[in-house]
Amino acid sequence: MFRPQKYSIPDRAGQPFIDPVEIRRLLDANPAPQHSQVAAAVESALGLNRLSLQQTAVLLNAGPEDRRLVLEAAGTLKRRVYGDRIVVFAPLYIGNKCVNDCSYCGFRSSNPRAVRRTLSPDEIAGEVRQLSSTGQKRLILVFGEHPLYDPGFIASAVRLVYSTRQDHDRINRVNINAAPFDVDGFRTIKRAGIGTYQIFQETYDPQVYSRIHGRGPKSDYTYRLTAMDRAMEAGIDDVGLGVLLGHADWRFEVMALVRHTNHLEACYGVGPHTISFPRVRKASNLDLSGIDHVTDDDFRYLVAVLRLAVPYAGLILTAREPGQLRNGMIKYGVSQIDAGTRLEIGGYSGPAATQQIDREQFELSDTRTLEQTVAELVKAGQIPSFCTACYRKGRTGEYFMQFASGGHIKHYCTPNALLSFAEYLCDYTSGPLYEKGWELIRSELDRMPAGALRDNTAKKLREIPGGARDLFM
Ligand code: SAM
Ligand code: SF4
Repeated sequence: MFRPQKYSIPDRAGQPFIDPVEIRRLLDANPAPQHSQVAAAVESALGLNRLSLQQTAVLLNAGPEDRRLVLEAAGTLKRRVYGDRIVVFAPLYIGNKCVNDCSYCGFRSSNPRAVRRTLSPDEIAGEVRQLSSTGQKRLILVFGEHPLYDPGFIASAVRLVYSTRQDHDRINRVNINAAPFDVDGFRTIKRAGIGTYQIFQETYDPQVYSRIHGRGPKSDYTYRLTAMDRAMEAGIDDVGLGVLLGHADWRFEVMALVRHTNHLEACYGVGPHTISFPRVRKASNLDLSGIDHVTDDDFRYLVAVLRLAVPYAGLILTAREPGQLRNGMIKYGVSQIDAGTRLEIGGYSGPAATQQIDREQFELSDTRTLEQTVAELVKAGQIPSFCTACYRKGRTGEYFMQFASGGHIKHYCTPNALLSFAEYLCDYTSGPLYEKGWELIRSELDRMPAGALRDNTAKKLREIPGGARDLFM
């Protein structure tokens, strides 16, 4: 599936690999590709082949007619690889002290309006109890960059989340988004049992990067670029890449994400578990006039291109975006969303929701509760998945990749999505949502090929209303 490619900067573990001139040249070499070139790249992607950077550039430059073909193909591939399911999680902000000065972020050190807070262990446990009492099973813990939030602190927070449980209410997978560490630091975090280590390069254009990261350790482009290499060396083989759209050309950023993917595959035999592509949002004391907003059409399109270029990666679309747009983008390749999100530190167990921009990193667009989001997914025929089976069964990294890229994922993931959703329905819903949810489960079960897997799934599903829990394949 992945064939190593020759680049101006060869892939070496721990070494930088982005050559902006090369990426630009690939994009500029074919500004108006022919239909046959687009169709060939699409066909290759539908055959579950990873796309080369040249093929990705072809798709990124496709004309309006061919864009339709790409969007459609992304939907087909999403269904083929992931089935009709969408993984649901929530972010939990632990602390917003920060020594960096990222121009776009409400938590930047030069923002005097930012209200700084770090949750105590009791407060973390309170947030976790509140989140898990709504049915959440997967969290991502988020931290500013500060000497206080060292690897030991992060590891303790992760352990505390796993140990905070009551009856069925428990978090089964804890991911983190935190500053990059050295290999020893990553080892400390790995030992606490994290799922995915996520960090965004923000922009892969070094000049733009320098302009928007003026001060603090984050101003070191290369240290951030090679963070995943150090994580891999420390044994964390589940990593999440991302860019913050609105600073550099979005086509360039997509090419760079694919280049980063190729680097990880070439050096470690494992690509990214997830890719994120947030657009800059309004934030405390922030002037948005210099932001080059990516239009909704381009945004949808770039997600479709990523889906085709890296078929195995989970594509994450967060509540920064409005609910309607999120609902619509699932069919173009998005496979993970957050739901019931509150960004204010301590916001889940605090008083009910109005957003207070000085207490948050940025403004949310989608403020639906988890239950409202689930209800809309069900209406759209999508199974909300709270599954954490791969992580708990050790199906991570290389194994996960082969598994997913061969299209086998739905043979485990569909049953596990059904089982975890059935448990959610029994524990956290009643009335019409409960009924409609089970209807969807029955129809998805009917669509599974007849055989042992379907029979086994049906048997386990029957046990859930009687009290059986935490069932997975
Ligand atoms: N301090 C960590 C770091 O910088 O990697 C944590 C990152 S932050 C809590 C998560 C992500 O939010 C950032 O990497 C950035 O991409 C994004 N972000 C920051 N400000 C934003 C804004 N105004 N709108 C949308 N996303 C933003
Ligand atoms: Fe700090 Fe992260 Fe915000 Fe930058 S993006 S100011 S590092 S919290």
